[in-house]
Amino acid sequence: MPSRPLISMIVPVKDEEAAIPPFVARVSAVLEGLGEPDGWEILFIDDGSTDRTLPAILLANQADPRVRGLSLSRNFGKEAALSAGLDHAAGQVVVPIDVDLQDPPEVIGEMVAKWRQGHEVVYGVRRNRTSDSLPKRITAEWYYRAHNWLSADKIPEHAGDFRLLDRRVVEVIRAMPERNRFMKGLFAWSGFRQAAVEYDRRERAVGTTKFNGWKLWTLALDGITSASTVPLRVWSYLGGAIALLALVFAGFIVVKTVLFGADVAGYPSMMVATLFLGGLQLISLGVLGEYVGRILVEVKGRPIYVVRERIGNVD
Ligand code: UDP
Ligand code: MG
Repeated sequence: MPSRPLISMIVPVKDEEAAIPPFVARVSAVLEGLGEPDGWEILFIDDGSTDRTLPAILLANQADPRVRGLSLSRNFGKEAALSAGLDHAAGQVVVPIDVDLQDPPEVIGEMVAKWRQGHEVVYGVRRNRTSDSLPKRITAEWYYRAHNWLSADKIPEHAGDFRLLDRRVVEVIRAMPERNRFMKGLFAWSGFRQAAVEYDRRERAVGTTKFNGWKLWTLALDGITSASTVPLRVWSYLGGAIALLALVFAGFIVVKTVLFGADVAGYPSMMVATLFLGGLQLISLGVLGEYVGRILVEVKGRPIYVVRERIGNVD
């Protein structure tokens, strides 16, 4: 086998013992079917699983040495696990994919074809998301809109992490120093010639989703704060507008007092103005805090992930 296989599948897994065998069976069949002489590897990244995910990877590796694994020292999150995968994948192209077979591996053939035509990134676009719950679809929709409105690096709507990346793109992403690894943002930033392939997103084959509402919210904040500084800058404009309004209002009050005398009423409007401005100030402080917290994480410069164990031939 050549030192650099054509395709590396990188698969982050957290507590997915039941999903590993069907995934390996289906994906290796697809990869064999491509008829690519240079071969392939499947690289699992065990993201601190507490079930029997690691033994399942070991078993799969004994059956086929092209199935390999990295085990992280604890749960670092999917984005960190994907970073580990990119760092240790050997392939000329790298394809991140979830283990739950929601993204059909049969699409890989199409991706490779587009890559051969000269595209460095071929991302999958979900033709429908009926397999996701309604709240998840709506919030995802809002998120893509907000992100692309606030950031200059547009992320394609309805595209997940399932995509083909040329080695050159992989090296660009690996060279990015940041600790905040919001992958879709990094993919969007890196540019290159991109193409899309459409597919239908299925229900999860086995197991349950590892992303609850709060995790998704945090992911959304990571995405926006890493891609845009608009939330930081908007406050000076808002403050300026309010100050201007206040000045006009002050002039109005002076004129009114000179012409008609003062009346003491005005408690409700005073309260409203005070509370409104107090609220705005707290929000702007909070936004500042979101960014400062992330700067702290970057400055500490800790590793993105820690490898505890390698399974099979992983460099
Ligand atoms: N995952 C991970 N670390 C985590 C959470 C999830 O590696 O902390 C993996 C998970 O095992 C799966 C993939 O990320 O292979 C996508 O997770 P899931 O299918 O639960 O997300 P959803 O499709 O519901 O958005
Ligand atoms: Mg899933």
